Amino acid sequence: MRAADSVSGARAGKTGTASKNGAAARPAQDDCPRLPSPDTLTALSALPHNERVRCFMARLVQKAPQTLLLEGGTVMERAAFSLYWACLLNCENRGPTPCFACDSCRRFLEERHHDFFLFDGREQSIKIGDLRAVRATLGEPPRHARTRVVLLLEAQSMGNDAANSQLKILEEPRPGTCFILTAPQRERLLPTLVSRSWILTLAWPQPGSQETDSDIENWKEALQNFLRTGKGLFSHTSIKGALDKNTVARLVANLQRQLAQAIIGGIATEHIFSELDLHALRRLDETLNHCLESLEASVNPALCLEWLATRLHTGFQDRKGG
Ligand SMILES: [Zn+2]
Repeated sequence: MRAADSVSGARAGKTGTASKNGAAARPAQDDCPRLPSPDTLTALSALPHNERVRCFMARLVQKAPQTLLLEGGTVMERAAFSLYWACLLNCENRGPTPCFACDSCRRFLEERHHDFFLFDGREQSIKIGDLRAVRATLGEPPRHARTRVVLLLEAQSMGNDAANSQLKILEEPRPGTCFILTAPQRERLLPTLVSRSWILTLAWPQPGSQETDSDIENWKEALQNFLRTGKGLFSHTSIKGALDKNTVARLVANLQRQLAQAIIGGIATEHIFSELDLHALRRLDETLNHCLESLEASVNPALCLEWLATRLHTGFQDRKGG
């Protein structure tokens, strides 16, 4: 069921699907789904740079937090991993990853689960009235699911009233309900909302997404040059304030994308990654994940990049030597 079937109030009527009122509402278009398809979810979750997210969710589902905040990535990736988490929480097969095939997974994927409430802030702001409408339902146990899912996509689109209303909802214990909030960066949300959430940071936007990466071109060039020659990078990173967390994260995301292409054999033979075998590529993926974790732990971005560059350069040299 799509948005046009929805009725006013928190829950659609006869088919009993997720909330589609207010911010969630938009014309029904079966050829234009609001959430990523199962194929997209499978492809995205299988990418090497998303392995960290998959593993994290597999552990987290054992004792799911009431609220999960997904930041980083692109809008589509945040929506995709929100849906992935909703499926994982309720998958009938109870595996470390959702099966996307059982009745529960299908209902979430098709947005027709009775216990799935979606507020879509991607196109218009999430309104306080939308949240109020669903609030009464939250006192009841889920109808069919193990865990009811309330998803607020791009929650930064909430006005202050709506954000405070959501905060009140989160302040009360909601057994059987999991909230998912997405936002480009946690700083875009009320700190009190953030402090009540488990935060999961997706790899930062990839080239070709709507977020431009033109300002990292010089860094990419300097890094590639360093990997080949071992020179010319630290003179740039040592300039005070030359690098911020976002720039390094996007540089890493760019490398992760090239790595993903190299693993499936889709990279040009002149590219430096094409010299590496699968084992070396997987080690490279681990190194990139370590770098992202350090960034998340607020290690100085210039130090993170220098560490990463040194590790990569050494890896390439060892390989040539061996
Ligand atoms: Zn399933």
